[in-house]
Amino acid sequence: MIAITSKEKIQSKLLQWFKKSKRDLPWRKTRDPYAIWVSEIMLQQTQVVTVIPYYQKFLKSFPTLHHLAKANLSTVLKVWEGLGYYSRARNLHRASQIVLIRFHGKIPDTLKDLLTLPGIGRSTAGAILSFVFHKEAPILDGNAKRVLSRLFAVSESPDKRKTEQLLWKISESLIPKGFSNPFNQALMDLGSMICTPKDPQCHQCPLKKHCQGYLSGKPERYPLRTVKKAIPHITAVSAVIGKGGKVLLCQRPPKGLLGGLWEFPNWRIKGKRRARLRLRLRNTIKKEMEMNVEVKESMGTFQQTYSHFKLTLHVYYCVAMGKNKKGRWVAVGNLHLLPMSRIHRRIANALSGGR
Ligand code: SF4
Repeated sequence: MIAITSKEKIQSKLLQWFKKSKRDLPWRKTRDPYAIWVSEIMLQQTQVVTVIPYYQKFLKSFPTLHHLAKANLSTVLKVWEGLGYYSRARNLHRASQIVLIRFHGKIPDTLKDLLTLPGIGRSTAGAILSFVFHKEAPILDGNAKRVLSRLFAVSESPDKRKTEQLLWKISESLIPKGFSNPFNQALMDLGSMICTPKDPQCHQCPLKKHCQGYLSGKPERYPLRTVKKAIPHITAVSAVIGKGGKVLLCQRPPKGLLGGLWEFPNWRIKGKRRARLRLRLRNTIKKEMEMNVEVKESMGTFQQTYSHFKLTLHVYYCVAMGKNKKGRWVAVGNLHLLPMSRIHRRIANALSGGR
C-alpha cells in the first residue's frame, strides 16, 4: 500500500522530530499502566491543557487501580467534575472493578481483553498497548485520523466505515518495528502541534515532502468533514427549593447523560411558552415531587452547550411548604461536596454567594 522507501522516510523523520519536539506531559514520565490508562481516558474528547490538572488531581485522589475500584462512584464523579463527558468517569470506575476481579488487578495486555472493558475502544486500546506494553498496535484518535488523511490525501470522510478501515490499515502499516511507543506518540503530537485542524503549519512539518495533502496545495480539505446538523435548543425550568438553610437535590440515574450527578429539580418546557412559568412550576413540583412549594423570585437564566444540544434553564427560588417524598436535603454550605454538572454548579455557586 505504501512504498517501502517513503514509509521508512516517514517513520524516521517523524521519530527524529519527536525526539527534539515532544511535549513534556506528566503521563509520559510514568511507566505505571494505571496512570497511562487514566490519561488516555481523559484525553478522549479533551485537550491536553485541560486534562493535566484533572489527571494530577485524579491520581492524588485514587493513586492506584485498587483505590479507584474501591471508591464510591459519587466520589469519583466529584473528582471528575468539570471535565465533562461523565460516562468516561463511570466507565473508568466500572472498568477498574472488572480489572480487579477478572484480571487480578493487572491491566490486560491484549487487544481482545482490553476491548472487553467499558470505555476502551480500539484507539485507546492501541495507545495502552503501545505506550505501556510496547506492542505494535495502531492508534486512530482524532489527531492520527487528521494527519494520516492529509499525508495520504484520503478523500472520503473518515466517518465512513470503509475510510476508517483504510486509515486503520495505514496507521498499522506505518508503525516501525520496535518503536510503536514513540511513533504513536509522535503521530499524536504532530496532529496536536503542527497538523492542526484549521491552520496546519506545513512549513514546520517534518513530513511535508511526503505529504500528498500538502503537495496538493490544500491540506485543510482533508479529512473530508461531514456537515453536522444544527444541534437542538432545549428550554427547561429548575427549582431551588429551600427549607431551613438546606436545598433539595435529586440524583440523576446512574446511566445516560450526566448519570450519577446531583442537580436541582428541573423539567423541560415544551415549545417556547414561558407564560405563567411560576404557576406551572408550582403545579409540576406538586405532581412530580408530591410537595407544595411557594415559588419566589427568579434566580436568573443559565445557559450551557453540550455536545448534542444547547440548554437554557430558567431558575426560580422556591420555599418548601410541606414534606417531600423525593430528593435529598443538602445544607447550602455542603453543596460543594456533591458532584454536579457545570450548569447546576453555577446555580449552586450563585446560591452560596448570594443567599
Ligand atoms: S505537511 Fe502539512 S498537512 Fe501534511 S502532515 Fe504536515 S502539517 Fe499536516
